[in-house]
Amino acid sequence: MRTILIAEDNPINRELLRELLEIRGYSVTEACDGQQALAMVEQAPPDILLLDIGMPLLDGYAVVRKLRENPRLASLPVVAVTAYAMQGDREKIMNSGFDGYLSKPVNSGSLFQELDRLLARPATQSVLPSQPSEKQISTQVARAIAKQAAKP
Ligand code: MN
Repeated sequence: MRTILIAEDNPINRELLRELLEIRGYSVTEACDGQQALAMVEQAPPDILLLDIGMPLLDGYAVVRKLRENPRLASLPVVAVTAYAMQGDREKIMNSGFDGYLSKPVNSGSLFQELDRLLARPATQSVLPSQPSEKQISTQVARAIAKQAAKP
């Protein structure tokens, strides 16, 4: 099973990403800040790191820079996940050591497309669980939001 590490400081965003990834059969781990993300990757590298740009302790740029300095982790696929919609950000991100870019709110189609591209296997491959339908996804997302809202 492929493992995806979600490094994101916003619990709602983490939950939404987790739901999308789990219904597609990925194993998911989570980090709440850049320092924790770095420590987790060093201890057990995931197949892909989804890395928020704006995070406490170390931001996404600092995390990817440190990963690229480590020969063992230099080729780990890292996807930036960011709300920054300013023109030029995509270019800045792609020049900073990231392998891909997703803007928030993350669209499930773009997310799966990026993962398939980076894991270098076609979406139609038979070992993959079937693609969730749009209805399944919206149900999962609604459940995640409800679960989040119910927390004190
Ligand atoms: Mn953030």
